Amino acid sequence: MLAFAVFGHLNHSLSQETSSLTNLPPKRVLLLFGEVMSLPGNVMFEQAVRAELQKTCTNRIEFFTEDLDSARFPDEEQFRVFRNYLNRRYARNRKPDLIIAFMGRNFNLATDLRRTIFSTEPFLFVAATEVDIPNDLAELGLTGIVQRLDSVGTLKLMLRLQPETRRVVIVGGVSDTDRLFLRRIEEAARSFDRLSFDFWTNRPIAELPAAAASLPENTTILLSSVRRDVTGQAFYMIQAEQMLTPVSSAPIYTFGGGLIGGGAVGGSVIDTEVLGTRVAQMGRPALDGLPITNQPVEIRTNGTPMVDWRALKRWQISESSLPPNCVVHFQPASIWQEHRNLILTVLAVFLAQGMTIAALLAQRARRRWAEGEIQRQRAELAHATRVSTAGQLASALAHELNQPLGAILRNAEAAEIFLQQPNPDLDELRAILADIRKDDQRAGGVIDRLRSLLKRRNIEHDSISLTDLLQETVNLVQPEAAARRIRLALDLPARLPTVKGDRVQLQQVALNLILNGMDATESREASARQVTVSAREAPDGAEVAVLDLGAGIPADKLPRLFEPFFTTKPNGMGMGLAISRTIIETHGGKLRGENNPNGGATFRFTLPVNGV
Ligand code: ADP
Repeated sequence: MLAFAVFGHLNHSLSQETSSLTNLPPKRVLLLFGEVMSLPGNVMFEQAVRAELQKTCTNRIEFFTEDLDSARFPDEEQFRVFRNYLNRRYARNRKPDLIIAFMGRNFNLATDLRRTIFSTEPFLFVAATEVDIPNDLAELGLTGIVQRLDSVGTLKLMLRLQPETRRVVIVGGVSDTDRLFLRRIEEAARSFDRLSFDFWTNRPIAELPAAAASLPENTTILLSSVRRDVTGQAFYMIQAEQMLTPVSSAPIYTFGGGLIGGGAVGGSVIDTEVLGTRVAQMGRPALDGLPITNQPVEIRTNGTPMVDWRALKRWQISESSLPPNCVVHFQPASIWQEHRNLILTVLAVFLAQGMTIAALLAQRARRRWAEGEIQRQRAELAHATRVSTAGQLASALAHELNQPLGAILRNAEAAEIFLQQPNPDLDELRAILADIRKDDQRAGGVIDRLRSLLKRRNIEHDSISLTDLLQETVNLVQPEAAARRIRLALDLPARLPTVKGDRVQLQQVALNLILNGMDATESREASARQVTVSAREAPDGAEVAVLDLGAGIPADKLPRLFEPFFTTKPNGMGMGLAISRTIIETHGGKLRGENNPNGGATFRFTLPVNGV
């Protein structure tokens, strides 16, 4: 059989396995091997055939396996004995439904048995040989697979893994089969002119280990077929491999898939597993009684790139140089393969942890968004109340604007009259223009104050002078106070600390408190129509107080003043104090309201100090 198959101690189980438990009559498959069937290459072949056939066949399949062991029984007489034996066993009353012959030397096993004892049974062969394909295969009703040696592929792989190679030593035998292989290698060698080839074919195998031990650098050994050496001793290739690899100073390449594992680095090898699977596919219809000989003979010239991972390490060959389709055997199980469950558990824990963290982050993001949203809504509401406050001030402000505008008009008219005179008094005209400018600035100031109050804006954190802030607020509301005949007083010390915060918001608070104070005094007699804004430096920051002499706050209303929408006024919104308190608290201060001992109420707020 296959010259490359390797011996091994794999247990060879004899046929009669079942593929299913159905009651259909069993199908018989006879596997014939030219070489001894316990060689690993043969075992792999047999397993592949079984697996492939059992995959799809619902019948029970009985497998019968026989070998000729032609390496040790090469003569014609032995072949006759084998044929008779098969004839007795199978040809008469145990006819196979499918015969597959796996041969390494020539086609004789198949063609002879076809002509003599199995003339009608569906019969396939796999021949891993270099001999010419007989012409009468079709006539004999034989088909199958012919696998050729991939010498070029093996030499290419060798150069890919070890580009520094300069010399290749070919180890081969002298049998007919051996010589055929050597001829193929010689042919292939011609296309590798960078390499020198050294044929160790006429030396007794026993001499070779010593010679291989002292090979120089950049040399490799290509182990060809060694069925018989010059001394006439019969070999299996694995024996040659085992003699050489332990001592060789050069890496060994080969063609036999079964040799991968015996110390060789690799090669573009004959992969018996692939051959077994394919020939089983070709034979599968026979188990359903369908013809199979209509399929043409498949000729394969490519091998399967295959390496032994341990040999790569021994010769320090990088795995990165392997071709992409290369089969790597004997690679230690990766951490993943060995600890799959542990890794999965750890990953699951990480995943769970990750998900929890993600959930917490999402929650935080949601909370931040909600906080941002509250902030935004507050600002919106504050703006709305400012607009409503501005509405309250509108008529007073219109009046405030009318005054300068009226003055401007009057001054302009006066200027026109002056200009009609033959000699206008220029000094007078200049004075008029200065007045116009002053009035214009006054009107512009009113508009600016109103605009800054109504502007929709983000909260800012500026350093603010309380003096300026309160002054400005009082200026803004003064016209309204005057219109309502309420005295609005501002009582400030010479120096006040600055505070940090949002100018417009703080102004809004002051405005609210002043307007509320004015509302409270509205119905009072003239002497009580007074609101006083004062500020001082207090122990917990700066304090602003808005005092009125109004009706005061009824005791039962006191706890509810700062609730949103609490109002006692027919057109009140009830948001002023609620918003004011929020504003002051976001500035780090406090807002309180209380009744004065002598009537009226005082609202005061504190703010942390920024500096004087
Ligand atoms: P609004 O002014 O729209 O009613 P506020 O929140 O500013 O809303 O005021 C809520 C309520 O607090 C007022 O309706 C009023 O009853 C009471 N209040 C506020 N300031 C004073 C004050 N200076 N004197 C008496 N009561 C006041």
